[in-house]
Amino acid sequence: MRVSDYPFTQEATEHVRSLGYSLESLLSKSSFKTVRSRAAERVAGAMGDAIPESSGDTVAENLTELLSYPLARVMVSCLNDPILLRRYALAEAKLAFRRMQDEKEGLTMLAGDLGLNLRGPGPWKIYFAEYIRAAHRMHSPKWKLTNRDLFEGYLTVTEVELKRILEEVIREKVLKGLPTPVDEKICQTLEEYLKPLSRQLETLRARQKVDLGAVEEGAFPPCIKKMLTEVAKGVNLAHSARFALVSFLLQINMSPDEVIALFNTSPDFDQERTRYQVEHIAGSAGTQYRPPACATMATYGNCPGEDELCRKIRHPLGYYERRARMFTPAEVHQ
Ligand code: SF4
Repeated sequence: MRVSDYPFTQEATEHVRSLGYSLESLLSKSSFKTVRSRAAERVAGAMGDAIPESSGDTVAENLTELLSYPLARVMVSCLNDPILLRRYALAEAKLAFRRMQDEKEGLTMLAGDLGLNLRGPGPWKIYFAEYIRAAHRMHSPKWKLTNRDLFEGYLTVTEVELKRILEEVIREKVLKGLPTPVDEKICQTLEEYLKPLSRQLETLRARQKVDLGAVEEGAFPPCIKKMLTEVAKGVNLAHSARFALVSFLLQINMSPDEVIALFNTSPDFDQERTRYQVEHIAGSAGTQYRPPACATMATYGNCPGEDELCRKIRHPLGYYERRARMFTPAEVHQ
C-alpha cells in the first residue's frame, strides 16, 4: 500500500506530521506550487466528473499527492458549501476505490488503518460491530445484517464488497471534520485558486436547482418538501424515504424522466439504478405503487411533524390535493 494513494489514513497523517512542513510554507513557498495546484485539482475534480489520477511515481510526485490532500481540505473549508463538502468526500473515496483495484495485501492494511480488522486472506471475515459501523449508510438490502451469513459474530465479504465498504468508510472519514475552522487570512492567501473554484461552484449550484416544471410545489406536504430539500443538497435518502418521494411525484403526474432528473443532484447518482427503481415504482413490472400513508411515513421516521392541514388528512396525496385546490387555476398554471 503506497501511503500517498490514501492520504486520509492514519499512516499518511503521521507521515505528513513527521515531515514537519508548516501550513505557511505550503501556502507561500514557490517550491510547493505543484502541491497547491494539485489541491485545487482535487477540489475541481470533485465538482466535475472525478479527481484525475496523479501524474506519476516519483518521490516528488508522491509527496505532492500526500501534501495536496490536507490543503484541498483547507480549500473546501474556505468555500464551505454543503454540496461541495459531500461531493468532495465522495470524490476522494472514489479515487481511493479506483486505486484499490491494484491492491492485494495492501487492502488488508488499508482496512486495518480504517478500523476494520479483517480475518483471512479473502473472502474476509468482519466482526459484525465493525461491519455495522462501516455499512450503516448503505441502504440496498444486500448490506442488511439480516441478509448476511452471520456466524459467531463474524460475517463474510468478498473482495468486491470489501472495496465498496472501504469506499464508504473513506467517504465518511473524509467528510468528518469538514469544514475545518480556517482563518480568513489563509483563504485570502489561496484566492488565486479559490476564485476559479468558486465560479465552478456557482455553475454547479445553478445546475442542481430542482426544477419541478408545472407541478405545484407550493402544495407539497412538509414530508415531501423536506425530502426534496435533502435531495437538492445531495443527501442520499434512506430507502423508505426515496420510495415515498418517487411514488408521490409519479402519482402527481411527473414523468419517470422528470423524477430521475431530480435525483441527478445526488453526488452518488447512478443513472441506471435510479431508472430501474423509478420505472419499477411507476409500474414497469405491472404494479404501480402508491406512496405510503401518513401513519407508515411516521413509523419510518419520514414524517417531519404535522402542520395544521396534516392534522386533517391521512395521506400525503390528500394533503397535496387539498392544498392544490386552494390555488387559483391561474396560480397553478403560471
Ligand atoms: S402528516 Fe402526512 S402529509 Fe403531513 S408531513 Fe406527515 S406524512 Fe407528510
